[in-house]
Amino acid sequence: MSLEKIEASVLKTVQSSGFSCKRCGKCCTREDGDNSVFLMPDEIQSIQLFLTQNKVQIHDSISIHPIHEKNNLSSSSFTVPLFPDFYSTKKNSPPSFDSRLIFKNLDLIRNQITTDGIIYTFGWMLKRTQNGTCVFLDPKTNICRIYPVRPLLCKTYPFYIDFYDMDPEKNKADVIECECDGLETVSVTEKNVSKEMAANLLERVFKEKNDYIKTKENFEKHGAELEKKTTEKYDFVQKAGQNFKNGFLKFVICDSTGISEVFLPWNEFYSDTEAIE
Ligand code: SF4
Repeated sequence: MSLEKIEASVLKTVQSSGFSCKRCGKCCTREDGDNSVFLMPDEIQSIQLFLTQNKVQIHDSISIHPIHEKNNLSSSSFTVPLFPDFYSTKKNSPPSFDSRLIFKNLDLIRNQITTDGIIYTFGWMLKRTQNGTCVFLDPKTNICRIYPVRPLLCKTYPFYIDFYDMDPEKNKADVIECECDGLETVSVTEKNVSKEMAANLLERVFKEKNDYIKTKENFEKHGAELEKKTTEKYDFVQKAGQNFKNGFLKFVICDSTGISEVFLPWNEFYSDTEAIE
């Protein structure tokens, strides 16, 4: 596999996409559908540092208790455990957090729930407001308030590469396009934009692969509890649902740095107010 050749093929695809960001902010809201942003642990730490250095106030309401290995993600008021999307998508009405979707979502991940109703999940995502907008989007200006340290997923929107679709023999990678008003708006994407995008896309695909491998290792090391506690006969979705009715969800989160236990009041899944003051 030649990295130079792969990068050249990615660059070519991005250039011919005619992409030019229109600063519409749609990708940071739910306007075009699911806008969950997966976060890798080093991205969480960069954002935390940026918020501290810029003296940004964030309201911290999630209590995180690392269990097997400390993973230093204990003040993540802008993150929630990775979980299926929970915003309603009724036609002609604005998206809103819909707690009734919780049972449907629990059913989707039923093999990740223990008999105690603890949900095992694999990483983190950015917190959103009640209408599904990322907590870091300034609604007045459509500007990302953590722009210099925004996650790779945001930097590479509207493109992504699936590592498993990369063909090492052909030295090329298939670049997939997501819905975006900025596509095909210019005849050729600007050279600097294309170069930066291609570099970020490759950084993302390799980082995500490593993150996945380490997360899997951590799960294999510490996730035995899930196997011990899951059983065909037990209605664990109902147990997790009971926790939810009592006002919280219990998670064990495996990521590439370790494993954490989180007790999350369900209404902490979204932010009532914007996270930044
Ligand atoms: S971090 Fe920034 S770029 Fe990413 S979704 Fe939030 S506001 Fe948008």
